[in-house]
Amino acid sequence: MTRMLIMGPPGSGKGTQASRISDKLGIVAISTGDIFRYNVKEMTELGKEAKKYMDNGDFVPDDVTNRMVADRLRQPDAQRGFLLDGYPRTAGQVEALDAMLKEDGHALSVVIELTVPDDELVSRLLSRADTEGRADDTSEVIQHRLDLYHEQTEAVIESYVDRDIVARVDGTGQIDDITERLLQAVYSVRERTGSLPVVESVDAGDAES
Ligand code: ADP
Repeated sequence: MTRMLIMGPPGSGKGTQASRISDKLGIVAISTGDIFRYNVKEMTELGKEAKKYMDNGDFVPDDVTNRMVADRLRQPDAQRGFLLDGYPRTAGQVEALDAMLKEDGHALSVVIELTVPDDELVSRLLSRADTEGRADDTSEVIQHRLDLYHEQTEAVIESYVDRDIVARVDGTGQIDDITERLLQAVYSVRERTGSLPVVESVDAGDAES
């Protein structure tokens, strides 16, 4: 069973890669950013609360975010493993996630970090602004999101490095190549940590059972 995180700065391609990898591994991808955006679009209470922060590129407060993730992880589809995209981003969220996992007696198997240089992130996000029109893809807000990533989320990754479950993967180049690198990284961390019986091979086309 794979319970994993994909971490990376805004514009690193986390969302794209999360859906590809989760398909391949047969687990559900859970993106906190997507859940928030869905709630904003549907104008739910959660969406109204989150929007105040998202438009400025700030983190939604931990209590709101943690509660939302805890609810999501209790759903039946998350019982077979999951890939969290965009969570945890703060020390408080790491603690909350540990508590959620502990409740079930499970540990994280793998954390993958996608690395992309800041100047490339900025140009990717500015060109996405033209096509997707996300409210938080303006140059000022992009810079703030990058700053928060460097100030808080990199320390989150370091805390997982201390647990020896992190693999760093180069997030530049062709999308298919990056997916392949990520899958290789997942397999090698799982093998190294012995968290799972290793039965699949990377070129097996089907989802694992
Ligand atoms: P990005 O990684 O490009 O910033 P996301 O789609 O992952 O984009 O997140 C968009 C916004 O949603 C964030 O700027 C933040 O306001 C909110 N958000 C997403 N995940 C979290 C989180 N774990 N904690 C707090 N806020 C979050």
